[in-house]
Amino acid sequence: MHRKTILQAKEDLKQKKYSAVELTEAVYQRIDDVESKVQAYIHLTKKQALEQAREADRRLSAAEEAPLLGIPIALKDLICMQETRTTCASQILDQFISPYDATVVKRLKGAGAVIVGKTNMDEFAMGSSTESAWHHPSMNPWNLERVPGGSSGGSAAAVAANECIGALGSDTGGSIRQPANFSGVTGLKPTYGRVSRFGLIAFASSLDQIGPMTKTVADSALLMNVISGKDPLDSTSADVERPDFMKSLERSVSGLKMGIPKEYFTSGIDPEVERSVQEAIKTLESLGMEKVEVSLPHLEYAVATYYVIACAEASTNLSRYDGVKYGYRSEKNDNLLDMYMNTREEGFGEEVKRRIMLGTFVLSSGYYDAYYLKGQKVRTLIKQDFENAFQESDVIVAPNAPITAFKLKERVNDPLKMYLSDIYTISANLAGIPGMSVPCGISKSDGMPIGVQLMSKHFDEESLIAVGHRFQQATDHHLRQPPL
Ligand code: GLN
Repeated sequence: MHRKTILQAKEDLKQKKYSAVELTEAVYQRIDDVESKVQAYIHLTKKQALEQAREADRRLSAAEEAPLLGIPIALKDLICMQETRTTCASQILDQFISPYDATVVKRLKGAGAVIVGKTNMDEFAMGSSTESAWHHPSMNPWNLERVPGGSSGGSAAAVAANECIGALGSDTGGSIRQPANFSGVTGLKPTYGRVSRFGLIAFASSLDQIGPMTKTVADSALLMNVISGKDPLDSTSADVERPDFMKSLERSVSGLKMGIPKEYFTSGIDPEVERSVQEAIKTLESLGMEKVEVSLPHLEYAVATYYVIACAEASTNLSRYDGVKYGYRSEKNDNLLDMYMNTREEGFGEEVKRRIMLGTFVLSSGYYDAYYLKGQKVRTLIKQDFENAFQESDVIVAPNAPITAFKLKERVNDPLKMYLSDIYTISANLAGIPGMSVPCGISKSDGMPIGVQLMSKHFDEESLIAVGHRFQQATDHHLRQPPL
């Protein structure tokens, strides 16, 4: 049962092959069996989940229809759920109990979902390997000596290891797409503004988006139907019509133009990654898509621009953790100023402190124009690159990361190397466009999964879903199971 996709489980529940309680128990059994190896979760919410499953069974027996009735879903632990710990994988929020539900949680619950638990992540979503997590790292189910990617590494690992049926992650600079890629699952970062950020603990507010991490593109389409749409509680959520994303699954992709950005296939890319992505491009051509070369000339500035802007926003967002309003407070608190300083010194991990300092620096007087303002200007150029590329193409096809999942501890002490591996994902966040990672192969040199990245115009997730789904119908990469 734990191996089912959302759509399969939904059908089985409807046909009464098993109950929502049985499905939920099967998922917890799977967690009992493999979690000591994978460590995908920070904490489980079993008691509430079983209540939700019982309620789902009542609704199912009354022949009620709801998109996720009885489906076990995992949440990255920066999405607030009422009366539940939301830790952001940080000591500073370790005991924080959210007083309310994030909008996406409210929507999931309304759709009948069963929330299994809160998944591991890099502290405050800052990282690419889930190693900066305060509690423990997570392992890649394909090879327990390797990272699952990050920062939504727990959600990716939980989906890959069948420790949930589907999950939500968040993506500020690639944190859905890169771990999906590293762990062999499907991950969709929606357009900025497509999904409400209300109740998502902020890292970099102009870049953050919540999105689905699933076993198939079709499952992501269903989750998008539930979580997206205008929310009066988030003024940056866009007032655009929400299409029925399930309809995109029926769309033909023949005649669509795929843009291949030449800058994404230069030196530094692992030959196995390049080979798999090129094969994916050939498959898409066989489905009737037409290949055109496009150029995204400012790619080389993307990493620097992102780390200036994201750190600047993080430094302001994280100023609220002062030992007064939330969570952890230092014992060393003889006077107010020392209490602030000691709380932040003890409560935040190294990477988070590095980002706060970088962000404070680029915003400080004398440096603001040289770094932050300049970064915003380059951000506009990167956005214009995509606008130009989308004049000639419908969907951009590229790698997600230049490498496959690396070994634990291999990069964690070299922040620059870690930042540079984000090169292919962060431009989509800077431009605000949607991006998706779909499994497209296994590396012959290290046996790790590889994904292909699809990007499209603002609010055109439908094209990504159509292309991704056709690709999954034509291939079996997404069906492979880790040798766990
Ligand atoms: N790896 C990137 C970072 O460290 C992206 C993180 C994210 O998308 N949350 O900032």
